[in-house]
Amino acid sequence: MPEIVRSVKGTRDLLPEEIRLWQKVEEEARAAFRAYNFMEIRTPVLEHTSLFARSVGADTDIVSKEMFTFEDRDGESLTLRPEATASVVRAYIEHRLFNEGGIHKLFYLGPMFRRERPQKGRYRQFYQIGAEVLGSDEPETDVDALEMLHALLVMRLRLRDSRLLVNSVGCPRCRPSYVSALRHALENVKDRLCADCQRRSQTNPLRVLDCKVEADQPIIATLPTILDYLCVECREHFDAVKRGLDERAIEYQVTPRLVRGLDYYVRTTFEITSGALGAQNAVAGGGRYDGLAELLGGPQAPGFGFAIGEDRLVLAYGAVEDRAGAEDLIYIAWLEESSLRPAAELARELRQENLRVELLFHPMKFKKSLAAASKMTATFSVIIGPNEASTGRFAVKNMSTGEQEPVERARIADYLRAKLKELNH
Ligand code: AMP
Repeated sequence: MPEIVRSVKGTRDLLPEEIRLWQKVEEEARAAFRAYNFMEIRTPVLEHTSLFARSVGADTDIVSKEMFTFEDRDGESLTLRPEATASVVRAYIEHRLFNEGGIHKLFYLGPMFRRERPQKGRYRQFYQIGAEVLGSDEPETDVDALEMLHALLVMRLRLRDSRLLVNSVGCPRCRPSYVSALRHALENVKDRLCADCQRRSQTNPLRVLDCKVEADQPIIATLPTILDYLCVECREHFDAVKRGLDERAIEYQVTPRLVRGLDYYVRTTFEITSGALGAQNAVAGGGRYDGLAELLGGPQAPGFGFAIGEDRLVLAYGAVEDRAGAEDLIYIAWLEESSLRPAAELARELRQENLRVELLFHPMKFKKSLAAASKMTATFSVIIGPNEASTGRFAVKNMSTGEQEPVERARIADYLRAKLKELNH
């Protein structure tokens, strides 16, 4: 027997059993985006490697060690996108969307690829749901996008124990003085930091703040914080963002060492964590990236965006939604050959009414048929035997209470709909 071919390490199949949660999360995301007038954009999974090297930054973990990069047959270097902001900004420039003027509010859903060490909540192919606002540097833009994210995660998807961590990472005018202070402070402590941080102290000191090595944390806590170095404009911008969040009653925590692993951020950066997850507790992250469009050869176009880790959101949502996969199912049990035809007719009618219906065709004894209904977690079974066929009333059984009621054939769809509504509220 030939060996079976398995999926690639860090990738996984999403089977029908769990897909319902994914669809629900995506439906809610689309509804939230629509409410705030964001339009969908779909960009390719494959991009030129230089797009990410220039935007995310050559010395970030993502670009230096996590990208799936390969040489195409003609020698060109291509990469499976590790994130989508760079792609969205590329598309914005390439299709000259800026010519239309005004603000562009875009959202996307799709797979991203990073060659990380796989574990629960961390995959090599994972999914992000993200949004970008291009063409505005107003602090209110940041606040509005954060409000939308809050509405989606907390109000719609009931994300438990969530925290919004915010920071400002300054701009190209004020950040250099912070970086030099940081570099200076690192001189004294870098020998006690991990090997990666020793290298980062030289190449990109801000990245030291991102370090996840436990032993480094007490030392990192002593380093200077960027909030003491912000220029007047950046400070005012950050104050306005915080004020806006206060006005909208969105709770947050200022976290001065939050810098995030991508070089293009300026000013506002943030992360949302949830206590419902384990070690990988970051559900979403993002920030402002004024200057990214210019870096990619486009016009000046300030931007703000975020990406939600859909895998992690589904994980957290699955715990909330313990009726997982149980969008109500109606099972039709028929008892004799002669009741198969009325059963099939009823199934067709209920399906036309948009109910989810299962009808099995092989003959079964009554008990076995109802056992099958329980196994597929049907909410109601409709029982059709010779009696029912002659009286024109079918028995409808509530599968969790066991209660059974005769219902007139013509009223079954209405009856089920009313009962389901009652149960789900
Ligand atoms: P980032 O693009 O790094 O800002 O990440 C945004 C969000 O994507 C994170 O908060 C995570 O929820 C999610 N994410 C990032 N990397 C992975 C991964 N390897 N596997 C699963 N989710 C991820």
